[in-house]
Amino acid sequence: MRKCYGPLHKGAEIDDDAFSNPRAKACRLCFAQYSKARYARDKERLKAKSKEWKSQHRQELQEKNRAYYLANSQSCRANVAKWMNSIENRIWHRAVNRIRSAMRGYSCDPKLLLGCDKKTLFFHLASQFKPGMGEKNFGKGPLKWVIGSVNQFDLGTKDGQLKAFHFTNLKPVWWKRVKG
Ligand SMILES: [Zn+2]
Repeated sequence: MRKCYGPLHKGAEIDDDAFSNPRAKACRLCFAQYSKARYARDKERLKAKSKEWKSQHRQELQEKNRAYYLANSQSCRANVAKWMNSIENRIWHRAVNRIRSAMRGYSCDPKLLLGCDKKTLFFHLASQFKPGMGEKNFGKGPLKWVIGSVNQFDLGTKDGQLKAFHFTNLKPVWWKRVKG
């Protein structure tokens, strides 16, 4: 046992294992508390800094992610498959990709444009199901349903984007073969 002088223990005796090294004056938990407090005090600046760093190292990060995926492709694919087992996740994924493809070439934040969370999006669509629509036949193909728009808006304006992609403008529609 030894004394920890950190904010959580204030001189109390605690187990040796709780310290990261023999000379530390505070235990690991207390050190974590310190850095948490430091982060909270300076949150906005640190967030901006990290965002800036990420944008400067975008390519590097992409390559790192790719390398990680290639080295762990089996478990990565299994994780994706597991995630896609949930109907809420599948619908969310589709809604986000729908925005990305409509906005091709322009920067956008799909989550912000949708204006809701996964559960809300799912219940919003499910509340408008027509007879025969359900969790099992979501997707492209005959007798399946996809996400459609209630009204069309001009995607060239920010206002139009906010209205077009907002979850309240989405409804379930039967899939139709695209002619052409
Ligand atoms: Zn402590």
